[in-house]
Amino acid sequence: MTTAQHSAEELEKLAVRAGRDLEEASAQEVLRWAADTFGRRFCVTSSMEDAVVAHLASRALPGVDVVFLDTGYHFPETIGTRDAVAAVMDVNVITITPRQTVAEQDAEYGPRLHDRDPDRCCALRKVAPLEEGLRGYDAWATGLRRDESPTRANTPVVGWDARRRKVKVAPIARWTQDDVERYVAEHGVLTNPLLMDGYASVGCAPCTRRVLAGEDARAGRWAGLGKTECGIHQ
Ligand code: SF4
Repeated sequence: MTTAQHSAEELEKLAVRAGRDLEEASAQEVLRWAADTFGRRFCVTSSMEDAVVAHLASRALPGVDVVFLDTGYHFPETIGTRDAVAAVMDVNVITITPRQTVAEQDAEYGPRLHDRDPDRCCALRKVAPLEEGLRGYDAWATGLRRDESPTRANTPVVGWDARRRKVKVAPIARWTQDDVERYVAEHGVLTNPLLMDGYASVGCAPCTRRVLAGEDARAGRWAGLGKTECGIHQ
């Protein structure tokens, strides 16, 4: 297994080539490539909506780091899913937190910043801490899927994350919701209980609602605010 550190130029070349070569590869093959290429400098990020990518990655790289961003605004079910994943799966869950607690943020910016300026709130509580949390890695995997929303329709299986200068892997980019459900059922993968309670995508509690029939999976995120992404994937 190659674990040598790569320069940013090497990483970009690897990402471009793999994005081309692995477009038709299975999720398992994509993760095998990531594990062989980056070893412990590869991690998975998880919102704890489900543990599908963490499960897939743990088979390619047992003990793989799974980075969870605790914004301080999560549903208790999400924290419970994180704890269950850490207890039963062959992964190393790492919880990262924003620089300020919610109370400290309220004191500086006023309460409920998420209602008044969600972009600012996400920048403080999601984007900045993830930037910090990914510092020690060359590559990171996410559970992004093309069928989740129009903004995710062109997600590459392997791409170059120019902002962070890292390889970004989306092993299940080509999966459908049916593929996810089949994998969960076949392997008994942990999922967030809120998925059984009308939520199709699980984020921070103040910015997440249940979806209605016919809505896309991410319609319940920042509903009515004209915002579709937190900034992590832009
Ligand atoms: S999703 Fe909402 S509560 Fe969470 S960081 Fe973004 S704006 Fe803040």
